[in-house]
Amino acid sequence: MSGELVTDAVVLRRLDYGESDRVVWLLTEARGRLSAFAPGARASRRRFPGGIEPFSFVRARLSPPRRGELWRLAELDLLEPRPSVRQSLECFAQASVACEIATDLSREADPVPELYQTLLRFLRGLDRTPGPSLFRHLLEALSASGVAPRLTSCGCCGGPIGAQASFDPAEGGVLCDGCAPRAASAVRVSGRALGALSSLEDPGTDEPIPEARALLWRHLEQQTGRRLASRKLLEELGLG
Ligand SMILES: [Zn+2]
Repeated sequence: MSGELVTDAVVLRRLDYGESDRVVWLLTEARGRLSAFAPGARASRRRFPGGIEPFSFVRARLSPPRRGELWRLAELDLLEPRPSVRQSLECFAQASVACEIATDLSREADPVPELYQTLLRFLRGLDRTPGPSLFRHLLEALSASGVAPRLTSCGCCGGPIGAQASFDPAEGGVLCDGCAPRAASAVRVSGRALGALSSLEDPGTDEPIPEARALLWRHLEQQTGRRLASRKLLEELGLG
């Protein structure tokens, strides 16, 4: 069929529809996010091995939308299932957060290859021990999407940050003492928390302290415009 697309993708999420169908959201390197209708996906193990499991890495054969944005998923090869997410609730919770954020940060037909690559790297890492750092991944995902928090200079005036600083996600990150009083939602932040976030890019660093995690969540949810549904499970497991 003309316009048919064969692409590798990460399965972000799926939704059951009717008796036997599914709608799936895929993240691709060259096309950004795609949503697709998968007729018979709950019944046909031949065309849809594994039933289109979220977090898996697949090769999808799709027909273009006739109208709107919904592609039609004809067939799918399961390249990499994610056994870790079925064996460990912690891995499942982290994969859920990573895919929910990738869904929010990506757009239909607007490819961000770095976002795709960091998500795939993170999900692959979950199948190894020790697993990857979720917070490092979140920072990488924000950075890939061009919305990383500004940590080393004031988000308003660009000036240097002193020993004390404030943080306001609506202003893009840290603020100097001169600019902070004019920002509506700025909170005081310790140099230790900023240092923990700044050093996260270094793969050798530990997980950030709780204050730094809270800043990262605030910044992230400012970008997505909502509280992430999958964050609740992460918090219940003590990983938030
Ligand atoms: Zn300033």
